[in-house]
Amino acid sequence: MEPNGEVRAMNSTMQALCAARGAVALEAIARPVRGAGSVLVRVTHALVTPLEREVMRGLGAPSEGARIVGTSCVGVVEEAPAGCAVARGARVAVHPVLSCGACERCRGGLALHCAARAIVGIDAASGGCAEWIAVPPSACAPIPAGLDEAAAVFAVHLARATEAVRRGGVDRKTFASVLGDDLLAVLTCLVACEENPLARLVATREETLKVAEQFGIRHRALAETGRRGDQELVIDTTGSAESIEAATRMVRPRGHVVVAGLSARAPVAVDLSRLALDEIEVHGSGFGPLAGAIERLARRAVDPAPLVTRRLGLAESAKAVLSAADAGQFATLVQVGRP
Ligand SMILES: [Zn+2]
Repeated sequence: MEPNGEVRAMNSTMQALCAARGAVALEAIARPVRGAGSVLVRVTHALVTPLEREVMRGLGAPSEGARIVGTSCVGVVEEAPAGCAVARGARVAVHPVLSCGACERCRGGLALHCAARAIVGIDAASGGCAEWIAVPPSACAPIPAGLDEAAAVFAVHLARATEAVRRGGVDRKTFASVLGDDLLAVLTCLVACEENPLARLVATREETLKVAEQFGIRHRALAETGRRGDQELVIDTTGSAESIEAATRMVRPRGHVVVAGLSARAPVAVDLSRLALDEIEVHGSGFGPLAGAIERLARRAVDPAPLVTRRLGLAESAKAVLSAADAGQFATLVQVGRP
């Protein structure tokens, strides 16, 4: 039995993108069958982002064998238990944080911090870059009619972006910067701009600054930001020693730093004396709820289309993981199955 309640069928196989020991490859593995209390989703689209590369590099719970990568996927429910809130045929986005629904945290409204949580594509749970995935119904967020699956598959990262902005407390008056070069950085800046159009993206790569320009958001090269320490809030989406160091340098005394990046390179070395002397507050930000992100995508408040760097079939998707952190690679849209 897998941690997400699935039982693997031995009689049929599926294609899945598997990572093990720093390598990634497409493999034919046993297809999951629906366990008690879970639904079986036929995946239509998944995303490969820099987060998938971090998983390949070792991010996540220690694992004996290969794990299926993919923190973001959408698909169609093909099997569901009788009376389940998620019906057969429903189009859904899968929330990567699988929770037990029974522990004290789950019962206290903190399901994303479930004591027994497993994160799809990061921990032992099977990821979304596969033809099938079995998850609890509570992990499925319905996709409204009119929203393409190719856009809905961005909901997980948009929810992370929304959570980072919420944790930072951006409002009309906040002097805020988002620091990073990845998909999460651009999405976070787009969400921050809804609260305060003066929020800016600070990046190191020309390709990122170009995308910011395309979206009409303020942007600046990190090398040009100087060492003034004048930002009230800096949201870091990389999670490396260098990026967190840069964030603490950009923020003013008594300012706030949100660490939203998930990196395999942790633990990081940061000058904590600066945090002490400048009385900087540091907040962590993880995965947020999908419903708000899906609603934003449905009303076209955020259009992720310019962030699709490549479209690939599942068979060719391994190369997308290897190059996911290269300049200008924001997201590879993996077309897994027919819509
Ligand atoms: Zn729980």
